[in-house]
Amino acid sequence: ASIDVQNYIDRVYEKMKQKDPNQDEFHQAVYVIFKSIKPVLIKNPHYIKHNILERIVEPERLITFRVPWIDDQGNIQVNRGYRVQFNSAIGPYKGGLRFHPSVNTSIIKFLGFEQIFKNALTGQPIGGGKGGADFDPKGKSDNEIMRFCQSYMTELANHIGPDTDVPAGDIGVGAREIGYLFGQYKRMRKSFEAGVLTGKGLLYGGSLARKEATGYGAIYFVKEMLNNQGQTFAGKKVVISGSGNVSIYAMEKAIELGATVIACSDSNGYIYDDSGLNVQTVKQLKEVERRRISEYALIHPSATFVEGSSGIWSIPCDIALPCATQNELDKQAAQKLVDNGVKIVAEGANMPSTADAIAIFQDHKVQFGPAKAVNAGGVAVSALEMGQNSSRMSWSFEEVDQKLQQIMKDIYQNSINAAEAYRKKGNLISGASIAGFTKVADAMIEQGVI
Ligand code: GLU
Repeated sequence: ASIDVQNYIDRVYEKMKQKDPNQDEFHQAVYVIFKSIKPVLIKNPHYIKHNILERIVEPERLITFRVPWIDDQGNIQVNRGYRVQFNSAIGPYKGGLRFHPSVNTSIIKFLGFEQIFKNALTGQPIGGGKGGADFDPKGKSDNEIMRFCQSYMTELANHIGPDTDVPAGDIGVGAREIGYLFGQYKRMRKSFEAGVLTGKGLLYGGSLARKEATGYGAIYFVKEMLNNQGQTFAGKKVVISGSGNVSIYAMEKAIELGATVIACSDSNGYIYDDSGLNVQTVKQLKEVERRRISEYALIHPSATFVEGSSGIWSIPCDIALPCATQNELDKQAAQKLVDNGVKIVAEGANMPSTADAIAIFQDHKVQFGPAKAVNAGGVAVSALEMGQNSSRMSWSFEEVDQKLQQIMKDIYQNSINAAEAYRKKGNLISGASIAGFTKVADAMIEQGVI
């Protein structure tokens, strides 16, 4: 049976690669899922009979479109916009928008594919989607950002809606961009459909604790991992890459729970202070003033700035949280972390560890928390935002935060249980993939050939 299953997996994987060569990131995300769910297919061959794998790697819809806009010099610029509506078996498509020059079909598909299983894990009724553009927000004026967002939404509005597809933020898309996107959508629809986007400002239908949710959620998840070993955050040295929305709120919560966060980074380099970073300064620099992290060292002379962001993984720490971007942590970085005695690695970003890096962590028995479980708090609270919007209510910060904590606990426990049920005790990569996959696959089968 094992050989038949492996043949089926290989056949689907090869066919997908042949259809869409040059989509390395997407193939990487599929590889991890396929590897994890092999024991599920062995135990339940009906998934093969229903050809679930070949169906699940094919997006329900992939939209690309032209985004023309006028820069401050009066020149006409053109970017490419994307939205992948990957899987709607358990709810409307849900997932963020990424504005970054690296965005292409492979990146959007890997993110959308991950989103299917992540969203299933949250326990909320949301399908998987993702979108974005190869637009570089760096150095753009506020007016340029607004014009770009308006042009982007002018096309995207044809494809989304509160019960169809609900975008949110991701890299390069925060509260400001969501505001401009929402404003354009509203004037096109001539009605106030709050539930069409999440991550909205608090003045027009946003949820308290949504901004904090991904970072806080990641720390709540790691708290469970520590708890399982009879440990807490108190006194732990933590390295967190990135300095965006995920990183900042992971830092804030880790410090609140007694950890010392000794390093963070942006695309230019990292800052390091063994006595601990000041999260307020990071917030002010990155969230409010949109400056570079190197300026932190000018404000706090006890910190040093080092050029090149990947060097951050050579700093000895107990807990490493990659919260910047995909494939930021490679084989060499993983080996360095292991040599320096890291105990826990948990992914705040989407797919920040390469497949080789993960193999090294597993070989050395480092506790590893995969992205689709660890960073699910953001989209989970997005689903709570949708719920508040459709019931025309708004919950207190404490209410949302309580629900988030429970959701992260449940994700941890469901992943542990799924791993155990398929004799992968303690393996959160297998557990999270299996728990997410079975829910979506079963819903697809109940709905017929879709
Ligand atoms: N971009 C986030 C993620 O990767 C959040 C998506 C959302 O809230 O819809 O899950």
